[in-house]
Amino acid sequence: MRYISTRDNTTQYSASQAIAQGLAGDGGLLTPFYIPKLPNKALEDMKDMAYQQRAVYIMKQFLEEFSVKELTDFASAAYGPDKFDSPAVAPVRTVDGNTHCLELWHGPTCAFKDMALQMLPHLLTTSLVKTEENKTVCILVATSGDTGKGALEGFKDVPRTKILVFYPKDGVSQVQELQMVTQEGSNVGVAAVVGNFDDAQTGVKKLFSNERVRRELARRGYFFSSANSINWGRVLPQIVYYISAYCDLLRDEKIEPGQAVNVCVPTGNFGNILAAYYAREMGLPIDQLICASNRNNVLTDFLRDGIYDRNRTFYNTMSPSMDILISSNLERLLYSLTQDPAEVKRYMSRLNEVGRYEVSDKVKEKLNKRFKGYSCDDRETQRVIREMYEKRGYLIDTHTAVAFSALEQYRKETGDTTPAVVASTASPFKFCASVLEALGESNIASGLDALDQLTAKTGQPAPAPLAGLRDKSVRFTQVVEKDHMVDAVLSVLE
Ligand SMILES: *Cc1c(COP(=O)(O)O)cnc(C)c1O
Repeated sequence: MRYISTRDNTTQYSASQAIAQGLAGDGGLLTPFYIPKLPNKALEDMKDMAYQQRAVYIMKQFLEEFSVKELTDFASAAYGPDKFDSPAVAPVRTVDGNTHCLELWHGPTCAFKDMALQMLPHLLTTSLVKTEENKTVCILVATSGDTGKGALEGFKDVPRTKILVFYPKDGVSQVQELQMVTQEGSNVGVAAVVGNFDDAQTGVKKLFSNERVRRELARRGYFFSSANSINWGRVLPQIVYYISAYCDLLRDEKIEPGQAVNVCVPTGNFGNILAAYYAREMGLPIDQLICASNRNNVLTDFLRDGIYDRNRTFYNTMSPSMDILISSNLERLLYSLTQDPAEVKRYMSRLNEVGRYEVSDKVKEKLNKRFKGYSCDDRETQRVIREMYEKRGYLIDTHTAVAFSALEQYRKETGDTTPAVVASTASPFKFCASVLEALGESNIASGLDALDQLTAKTGQPAPAPLAGLRDKSVRFTQVVEKDHMVDAVLSVLE
């Protein structure tokens, strides 16, 4: 399996080069040259496997250079009982006859990012060995909240890695911020950026392409890589859980072999839903991909009329991990739909220059056929949380609620009753203030006391990694202007 850049498919990379490097030199995203098809009996074969074995089976299709033994070791380290509080790793909970919720937040940071970020350090450090890279890798992360903590937890004390996380000062929840600023490990750094997520992400992208900084780092024995979902090593492990969910539904006889399902994903950077798209490309019977957005509905508009326009107000919502106006991974989808790097490059330079591009009619048609976009505001998010809890006793977080709203809108509009898998991306305890408010509480405790309040209200215990934050001390207090992120990097990498 060879990898290419979405902006130039003449240069080929191995999987380990793609993962070690993170981003192509031309600014494009490194992507498989083609998406392999699942062998005929694959779903049947995987039906009775554990999650870890399914991960090996699926990842192997994309990673020829990695042995089954290597991948097996990675999967058992990444998804073991010391990391995940559910033996199923990503359990599927049936909400009603044809609605199933794929819970992706049973890992160490209580958000779906763990599914990939527990695996990425293994893929990345092994890729360094395979590519004979002997510098230390410095992982730069821009986070809307969950990626930062997930990456810190995945990379802490991993030899020959450093990790630096930038989060928007006022764009993350209190619990998310505490999770990051209390991070342990000798190779980690965390800084708040004055601005929103797009400022942090743009700042990180600029660092990547800053030649002067790169040279200085090389002199000090470092090179940059990325743990954002622009890294292929982030997207790949996410394909696994969609296939795994389908296998669970087959195993539990909730669907028939070959039966189509729809998948509904609360979306920000387009990484998670892209993985579902790739699972479909591999042959998983997925019909519609429902892309759920909050008030930052740039993707909803794009999927409706084919115009991506980031020139709009940025809103801070109660689903902050989706507060994004530039969805980086859309570029991979555009490549897949056009198979034309020159066309992708044109769209991306338009985005860069004027913040807007319109795709061709051919691309629009393909998008329409496969994707449906819906969005909702915070009030609707809260209504869904309350109803889900009151009617079904199921407590969901704000992001997952946006997805359930989108599914409801889709079903109302189309009458489609195809079974749906809804990706549940965070524990409700990560966003407990908003969840408590949705449940009708008015005096909401601050900081970690809100965890107890949610427990008192619902009788459900907070996940151990969140409850444990109480005993941790704050290690990071640095706040940087977005134009000074480079200083933060150089001061950490002395
Ligand atoms: C990151 C995140 C999302 C958005 O996922 P993308 O892959 O960026 O589309 C949604 N919900 C939660 C809780 C997240 O952490």
